[in-house]
Formats: sequence, C-alpha cells, structure tokens
Amino acid sequence: MTVNAQNPATHVPTWKDLPAAQQPEYPDRDALRGVVAELESYPPLVFAGECDQLRARMAAVAKGEAFLLQGGDCAEAFDGVSADHIRGKLKTLLQMGAILTYAASVPVVKVGRIAGQYSKPRSKDTETRGGVTLPTYRGDSVNGFAFDEKSRVPDPERLKRMYNASAATLNLVRAFTTGGYADLRQVHAWNQDFVKSSPSGQRYEQLAREIDNALNFMKAAGTDPAEFRTVEFYASHEALLLDYETALTRVDSRTGELYDVSGHMVWIGERTRQLDGAHIEFASRIRNPIGVKLGPTTTVDDALAYVDRLDPDREPGRLTFIVRMGADKVRDKLPELVQKVTASGATVAWVTDPMHGNTFEAASGHKTRRFDDVLDEVKGFFEVHKGLGTHPGGIHVELTGDDVTECVGGGDEIFVDDLHQRYETACDPRLNRSQSLDLAFLVAEMYRA
Ligand code: PEP
Ligand code: MN
Repeated sequence: MTVNAQNPATHVPTWKDLPAAQQPEYPDRDALRGVVAELESYPPLVFAGECDQLRARMAAVAKGEAFLLQGGDCAEAFDGVSADHIRGKLKTLLQMGAILTYAASVPVVKVGRIAGQYSKPRSKDTETRGGVTLPTYRGDSVNGFAFDEKSRVPDPERLKRMYNASAATLNLVRAFTTGGYADLRQVHAWNQDFVKSSPSGQRYEQLAREIDNALNFMKAAGTDPAEFRTVEFYASHEALLLDYETALTRVDSRTGELYDVSGHMVWIGERTRQLDGAHIEFASRIRNPIGVKLGPTTTVDDALAYVDRLDPDREPGRLTFIVRMGADKVRDKLPELVQKVTASGATVAWVTDPMHGNTFEAASGHKTRRFDDVLDEVKGFFEVHKGLGTHPGGIHVELTGDDVTECVGGGDEIFVDDLHQRYETACDPRLNRSQSLDLAFLVAEMYRA
C-alpha cells in the first residue's frame, strides 16, 4: 500500500522550491495542476519492494559479482508502444544478456531504458529550419516531434499519456519476461528472424547451440532450474520532469520511506546534476537505486559530493555512476574519479555509457555515432578499471530491436551515406540489433580478459 506523496501529512517535497533545469514552460499552469492531481491518484507502476530487489542486484554489481546491462531507446515515443517494437527491444536485450552471461560467465542484471523514457533534456531551447525557429522537441511527454508551432507547445495532458504508455509497456514487458517468452530454452527463438540475415545473428546462433547443449546436459543430469524459465527485468528512465516524478513519488507503508514508483531505477542526467538543484535533492529523498551521469567536466569534488548527498550510508547498490566521457577522454578523466570515490569508502557501481560522449553530425545533417568510437570508450573504461583493480560494472546503451541505420560501422558495416535509409530515432542515434549483438560479444571478451 502506498499513500499519496502530496499529502502534507505524509511528506514534504523538499525539492519543490529549488531551481530545476530543463523543465517545460507550460502556458497553462492550472491545466498542469489538474493533471498532476490526477496522476497523484493513479496506482504505482512498480512496487517499492521491486526497487529494493534491484538495489540488492546493483549491490552485487558494485561489489564485482554481477554486470549491469542497461539499454533501450534514447527517447521512447507514444507511437512506438506496439507489441512489435517492445518485443524487438526486449529480444535484443535478452540476446545481449545471454551472450554476456554465457561468454563472460557473469550474472547479468537486465534493466531497460523503457516504460518511462519519454522526456529529453536538450542543449538548445529552440530549433531553426528553413528560416523558421520553434521551441525544441523535449520528448513525447512534453511536446510533439512534428516541426510546427502547435506541436511544439508543451501540453500537460501528455504527462497522462506518458503514464498510460509506461503502464502498457510495462504490462507487456512483465508478460514477456515471466510468461514463457524469456525462458532460456527459447534462446534460438529470439534469433529466428535474424539468424540468416546477419553475421552477428550467425555468431549468436553458435552460442545459442552451446547454451542448448549445456541445458540438455543439466536436464539429463537431473536438474532443470526454475530460474531458467523467467527473467528478472527492470525498468529505468531519466528522472527529468519533476512534476511527473513527484506525482508518482509515494510513501511506502512498510517503511515510511519515499519511492518514485514510476520506474525501478531512475537516473539524473548530465544537464540536471547541479548539486544545489532540484533533481539531486529529489534523488536524495527517494529510496530507489539512483544513477548519475558523469560527463567529462565532472570534478573529483562533484563525485564525492554526489556520494555524500545520495549515498550517505555508503550502501552498495544505492548509487551508480554512469560515465559518459567520450572515447578520447575516458582514459584521462576517469581514473582519478574512481580512485577518490573508492578511497572515500563508497562502493558505487561504475557503468559506461559509451554513447553520449561520442555523438557527431554527419554532412547529411544526421546526428550519429561511430561503432568504433563506442567500442573504444568501452575499452578505455575497462582499461581504467583493470589498471586500478576496480570493477567495470556494466554498460548503458541506446539501442533498438529494429534494423535502423543510425550509427555507422559495426559488423554489417553501415556507412555515413546509408544513414538516411532507416533513420527513425526521435532523438539520439541507437545501435541496431546487429550492432548491439556485436557489442555484447566484444564486451564479453573484454570482461573475460
Ligand atoms: C540520455 O541518456 O539520453 C542523455 C540525454 O544522456 P546525458 O544526460 O548523459 O547527456
Ligand atoms: Mn540519448
């Protein structure tokens, strides 16, 4: 049972009056208040106990006993809430999980950027095309992607659509992961539509055969564990829109503590991690496992201050640093952060986001990333941890199950001139399925090395 967060008898949102970066400017504040009141009455999307369970899994990651695979769209879209799309993403993550578990022999904690990843921080407030300047697109939870004046006005009704889209997505994810589809004996089935068309699909098929053999052997030897039948899968998103996140923050009746029940794990992005800002204050008050993105300008003092604010009890699993320095900077910037945070006595999980520091604009105007840069940042991240004797805890990637052409390179070699063919992202470029599997194989090799 949870009670309404806005009831002053239960909790005071201490972040409400602090400066909050990247919030929409709603033309109609009354309409916003009405929507927020409605959201406050909606049931939780996840349970506090599930958030605790993920925190325990993240503790294993922080201690070097498990590996985090976190991935999904840069920006989910309302029209992407279809069985095909959701299954495609899930299948890709399950395949990557199988590769990492089997080839790196490590338990993999699977977390989607899914069921809530509808809000985008932007570096510019406006966008100009053909001489026309309009407010920038901030995600389907805020305004419309279409480049016209009406679409770009922030509409609070979209917050309700975000809740409903998240609920529908989570419902299907739960059905897929517990209803037989994610059974490890389905390792081949996840690949059926893919095996012939791609070298990474064929490489995966070989690994799936090995897993099959192992399962058959175990069965013949008299063991057929229930753990193989379902998959533990968690939902995460950037906690960006504080009106929405606050409305879904509830007091857990078991403990009296606050949980953001919009997702299991939430993270604070590179553009909203100000120490005196509302986002960090919000994150400090909820019990969910928390991520903080660390870009190349992060100082040691910043990192130590995040530890003090967000993990005062030095509780493994509570805090994850998602490092997104760029391939050219990670080897220089990361070592000191890891050293000093470790010396402070905190056991945080260190995760690499090799996407956001490696974006560039192609001559065609497409925002893209090179697969080789992504891989090089992951390599740098592993090298740093190897050098320090600390644990490279996981990867955080933007991917889709669809065969899009948004990032260049990879085993199937997408060229800059191919980008226009299937460039479908509403925001940042994602790895397609083949590039995602390629990456998982390469990461498994690095982990084992
Ligand atoms: C993102 O994860 O899509 C994002 C905007 O990342 P960052 O905050 O690291 O720039
Ligand atoms: Mn992104």
